[in-house]
Amino acid sequence: MRFRAALAAAVRFVALALLIAASPQRGSAASPPARHVIIISLDGARADALQAVWPVSLRERSAASWSALTTLPSSTLPSHTSMVTGVSPQIHGVGFNDWRPGQMRLALPTVFTEVRRRGGVVYLLVAKEKLRFLVPEEVPLDYLAYPRHRQADVIASAARLFAERRPALLFVHVADADDAGHRYGWMSSRYLTVIAEVPALVDGLLQAIRAAGALNDTLVIVTADHGGHGRTHGTALPEDLTIPWVALGGPVRGGVMLERRIWTYDTAATALFALGLPVPGAWQGRPVVEALRVATPTGR
Ligand SMILES: [Zn+2]
Repeated sequence: MRFRAALAAAVRFVALALLIAASPQRGSAASPPARHVIIISLDGARADALQAVWPVSLRERSAASWSALTTLPSSTLPSHTSMVTGVSPQIHGVGFNDWRPGQMRLALPTVFTEVRRRGGVVYLLVAKEKLRFLVPEEVPLDYLAYPRHRQADVIASAARLFAERRPALLFVHVADADDAGHRYGWMSSRYLTVIAEVPALVDGLLQAIRAAGALNDTLVIVTADHGGHGRTHGTALPEDLTIPWVALGGPVRGGVMLERRIWTYDTAATALFALGLPVPGAWQGRPVVEALRVATPTGR
């Protein structure tokens, strides 16, 4: 009996050793650059306006393009659809800019559906209700209506939510710049005042991520759906099409100006790549790998 028990224990030990040997190792060459991605979409933020107030302290920590492009029409829903689906309007077909609860939602694969399909937690904070269109109903989304929730409040909510829930993907939309543009004009003093608040808000969010112990593992992308001119947008003018695209956080190569042309649909591909998830072959978007300190085989 004693021999049998010893034999059974030995067999269990060998089986366990084989199981351990066969499991994929964590921290191996396959370590993704990030465990969390936060996309901040500043509705209507022009690249030239944000570049002018982007301080040296953030420049040193950013991989930035101030000449990224959105798609046509340069309007909130079509442009955000390109940003999250990884494809242009010729493929996603969303040309409308209105949506009400109860209407059909986007049915294409998005950065949200891809992250959730692989078990990642996704959360959205949006300042325009029509952005609910971008996600299936079951995806958690908080609608922080402008103007009650101004951009400082939305970013503070994002910082709280990140610290509490640690989503793999957090999408944050603020509407202040777009609202100031429509009311007072793009590049008006009221508009520029709104844009001038942004660097400190981004810096505060980075500090909150650091305080949560996650800055090394978090990629933050600050971008916009479109720019604007006069009191409108939607056209093919460079003022409407040009958007900021700035990467920050632990996985980012700081102090880098991104030379290649970046399209808004590269944002979705970059988020998936950073999280170590495959980018769907049908997407036009390509990961902006130039912005990232991509993991080496020796690990971290
Ligand atoms: Zn607008």
